[in-house]
Amino acid sequence: MIELVVILITIFLFGVVFFVALNYKRKNNNNNNNNNNNNNNNNNNNNNNNNNNNNNNNNNNNNNNNNNNNNNNKLDNRLIILEDNHHFYVDIGDNCLLLVSISDKTFEENMSRIDDIKNIVRQLIISLTRRLDIETKNYIVGNKVNYSNQRGDYSLDIYNCDPLMREKKDWGDSNYEYVSDINGWEQLENILTEDGRNYASGTYGLGGTLYVPRTSICIDDIICNGEQRSYLDESILTHEFSHTILELGIREAHPDWYEEFGRITDMYNDIANNKSNGYCPSRYSCDRRELFALASQAWFKLIVRTDINNYITTPEDMRDFSRGTLSLYSFMVRVYGEPSDLCYILPNECKSKCKNR
Ligand SMILES: [Zn+2]
Repeated sequence: MIELVVILITIFLFGVVFFVALNYKRKNNNNNNNNNNNNNNNNNNNNNNNNNNNNNNNNNNNNNNNNNNNNNNKLDNRLIILEDNHHFYVDIGDNCLLLVSISDKTFEENMSRIDDIKNIVRQLIISLTRRLDIETKNYIVGNKVNYSNQRGDYSLDIYNCDPLMREKKDWGDSNYEYVSDINGWEQLENILTEDGRNYASGTYGLGGTLYVPRTSICIDDIICNGEQRSYLDESILTHEFSHTILELGIREAHPDWYEEFGRITDMYNDIANNKSNGYCPSRYSCDRRELFALASQAWFKLIVRTDINNYITTPEDMRDFSRGTLSLYSFMVRVYGEPSDLCYILPNECKSKCKNR
């Protein structure tokens, strides 16, 4: 009887040892797989960096920093930033968070309205990005990179521009700032836009590009608070953020769509010239980037201008630009879903920007 008990206990102990050993082996295999994945990722990063030798030193430095980062670090950074009320995240779904940074001067000037400001920005960004696919979303927030950019948070920077867009010397003692006064945008000081404006003083915001993967926007576009101000007839945030969607999101996530939009622009130029001789390329809307931005503003009914965009002032207008398999209207539906009116998000002071007031 005792012998039987000893045998049973021995069998039980063997079973336990076998089970523990099996699990240990499984765990090791998993770790190895993870390590292999990490190595592959690192190799990819290295390849990307090698391809990127032509870029400037800033980009190289950023990429080097980036090799040391991993998702855990990113999460940690986010938790730290969330403690700071100059920064917040907009959750655009599919595990994509867009970082928004409010400049110190903007914060000081608008302390009492800061929650309003956050709400307006949050709602607008969520609505603009609602129907973007997961790939595009991942690229516009910086979760994924292909090519020259650092992985990490791609922010939307809100700054306190002069609503009259005067030069610094004419500001007196006001608390304004140029976009080039914001951390990361310094290189724009003394640079001119294609149409001859000074980037630093003469813009209300800038869209993200592969080289500066961030959007900037003047606070006045969000609250329309100044006594005299520019751009009361269009949402510049919608314009600039749609540049980011095309140049960072679609270009990276769907290069074939980006190329298709180039052909749509050529078709648009051709048809617009037929409607009015010599219309393109002299108009703003005849450039690929601007066509998409102006079409995006019209898609969400947040532009009343008709001077720079007179063939695409409503989504319905866009149906005229179709040839063979190319269609401006269908392209916009593919990116954004059906057109919608986002006027309800804007505060009363900004309703002059709405197509349907
Ligand atoms: Zn533009």
